[in-house]
Amino acid sequence: MLFSTLKLSDPIVKAVTELGYQTPTPIQEQAIPVILAGKNLIAAAQTGTGKTASFVLPILQNLIDAPAVRAKRIRVLILTPTRELAVQVENNIAQYGKYLPLKSMAMYGGVDSEPQKQQLIEGVDILVATPGRLLDMYTRRAIHFDELEVLVIDEADRMLDMGFLPDINKIVERLPLQRQNLLFSATLSDQVRFLAKTAITDAVEIAI
Ligand code: AMP
Repeated sequence: MLFSTLKLSDPIVKAVTELGYQTPTPIQEQAIPVILAGKNLIAAAQTGTGKTASFVLPILQNLIDAPAVRAKRIRVLILTPTRELAVQVENNIAQYGKYLPLKSMAMYGGVDSEPQKQQLIEGVDILVATPGRLLDMYTRRAIHFDELEVLVIDEADRMLDMGFLPDINKIVERLPLQRQNLLFSATLSDQVRFLAKTAITDAVEIAI
């Protein structure tokens, strides 16, 4: 199978081809059509399987297919357990979206929040964030979720191991009810399923 048969448009296919990707990985083959169709998804996939591109590529496609309702508002929120992962996912978004007019940003704690605030004011389409700093910024009214279309919870099992369940619940409560939800986890344990239920209804489930 080729990326172009997955109904991804030329600027996206060009970017992944330049990275040396020739064919989609199994998780990408399964997840991309589901996400392009706007459905909710719960996926069991380890790091190293190509899971990041499996959600980033169709999200980019959906964003360019439907222009923003209001400029400079966050349309996609990706929650990650660590700063390292937030940076890595944001780097991937920048690579896959290099031919698209979309802005992404990684937000995490342990650093000065002023530059992050400034970047938000300038406009961000896709925000990759760790839960603590995100809540902090929300409380200080630096973030608005009124135009949010997609929530991604990445590495959900690690999020729970790190005790982020209360923070995730607080964040989810503040998002518009009508949105697409995607959850990725190495394992779909009972705890992960419990978390999934609080944020996601009617999800397609895939495991690779
Ligand atoms: P991930 O599972 O998202 O951490 O990705 C693991 C690695 O696989 C990353 O270095 C990606 O750049 C790479 N990768 C993702 N999708 C593909 C693909 N379709 N073909 C080749 N490499 C890929």
